[in-house]
Amino acid sequence: MSQDILINWSPQETRVAVVEQGAVQEVHLERTLERGLVGNIYLGKVSRVLPGMQSAFIDIGLDRAAFLHVADLMPNIAAKHATPRVPVAATSVTSAEPAPAMPVNGAPKVLTPNPVLPIERQIFEGQALMVQVLKDPIGTKGARLTAQISIAGRLLVFLPQDNHIGVSQKIPPAQREALRQRLVRLTATADGSSAGGFILRTNAEDATDEELVDDTAYLRKTWLRIKEAATRQPPATLLHEDLNLMQRVLRDLVSADTQSIRIDSREQHGLLIGFASEFMPDTVAKLQHYSGERPIFDLFNIDEDIARALSRRVDLKSGGYLVIDQTEALTTVDVNTGGFVGARNFDDTVFRTNLEAAQAIARQLRLRNLGGIVIVDFIDMVRDDHREAVLTEFRKQLARDRVKTMIGGFSQLGLVEMTRKRTRESLAHMLSEPCEACAGRGVVKTARSVCYDILREILREARAFNPREFRVVGSPKVVELFLDEERAHLAGLSDFIGKPISLQSESSMTQEQYDIVLL
Ligand SMILES: [Zn+2]
Repeated sequence: MSQDILINWSPQETRVAVVEQGAVQEVHLERTLERGLVGNIYLGKVSRVLPGMQSAFIDIGLDRAAFLHVADLMPNIAAKHATPRVPVAATSVTSAEPAPAMPVNGAPKVLTPNPVLPIERQIFEGQALMVQVLKDPIGTKGARLTAQISIAGRLLVFLPQDNHIGVSQKIPPAQREALRQRLVRLTATADGSSAGGFILRTNAEDATDEELVDDTAYLRKTWLRIKEAATRQPPATLLHEDLNLMQRVLRDLVSADTQSIRIDSREQHGLLIGFASEFMPDTVAKLQHYSGERPIFDLFNIDEDIARALSRRVDLKSGGYLVIDQTEALTTVDVNTGGFVGARNFDDTVFRTNLEAAQAIARQLRLRNLGGIVIVDFIDMVRDDHREAVLTEFRKQLARDRVKTMIGGFSQLGLVEMTRKRTRESLAHMLSEPCEACAGRGVVKTARSVCYDILREILREARAFNPREFRVVGSPKVVELFLDEERAHLAGLSDFIGKPISLQSESSMTQEQYDIVLL
């Protein structure tokens, strides 16, 4: 399946679209302000040692000095006491899951604690020290650092100062030891020298030897470059940051099927060529600068598809439509026939609609990046061969997804259950938030319901308090209703409680918001 990759770059946001057969299948985006510093490696300079707190302030070139605790200082000493920390960083296009949390199989066990050398005997003011950000600075607090470096690849995390091979606990125990043995074999250096430790990420479960070797080579090369930079650069400089989205695209998305990678920024195209020549030479020939008149995402109407991927309803060419609902627990997809279906060809129409739906659903799952449990309610089919054919088509379409999916057959209720591995956040979560007016329910109380809530509330207040006057502050629609259709009810209440009730329209209020002011 031939594939084209389009990159739309702007200083605030990078957007990537994967196009197959003329239609966008995947969208990835990264926002500059949301990247953070976690995982960045700096050549720091010790600016102050605090023996009382067993910590030090390190200058890494930011406004505020960063913080390093003795436990995060020396890998060899600290490793005997605690399992190594791995910074949590989204580093992969195919999997933004954090580097595996410790403990991992094969990580050092907690031994009898050795006395740790006090910090003032390990580092001194003015000393240059390689450090990595564990936690972003927040407010007045500086970044939290570690001297135990870890570099995240696509499948592996490299621990250059360590020698252990670990496997994430999330990988089933039955596979863990075999994977570990494989990794020991694949990461062994020719001369048998100690060459750093590796942790296998959960998304490496099904990786081939070649993929693992590629990632190992990439990580070792990156580490070499960091070490070289540390000898050339002055203290308080950035030595390495996790790959940006464009670089991850080259590493994770480009395959033999990729025809072209087009990017609409000349400068970024140049930078990407530089990166590709060093780390992914096979991709250099595919990189093109797009200088067309039309915005690059207009070429395949990608913005329209993104907008559609945020709505519940997806129209099918056959006249039917899908309704996709994403909840915290699962995603449901309901397939519907559109309008009137003639009785004569009913079975055929249903069958054709379901076949088209199978294709559309597989595409929407990728486009929306929906993970977890998905339940599909195809239109009921009478014939077994129709059901089989729809399931076969659905399986075939899902097989094109780079994210792992599992699918069952039709349940007794006629539903198809499937799972899709959770990777990055879904498109809806990245681009939208629950509606403030309805708190995400998708509906708000009618203006009339709100009017009646207000009338009841005034009655309650009038029993408890004795103001001169009540004033209703509400949305324009609610106030309008009180001035018009609900006027008699408001006047009746005013008579009943013997107090004037005035109205004030507040255009910033949502329909359900109101305030009752006692004057
Ligand atoms: Zn709403």
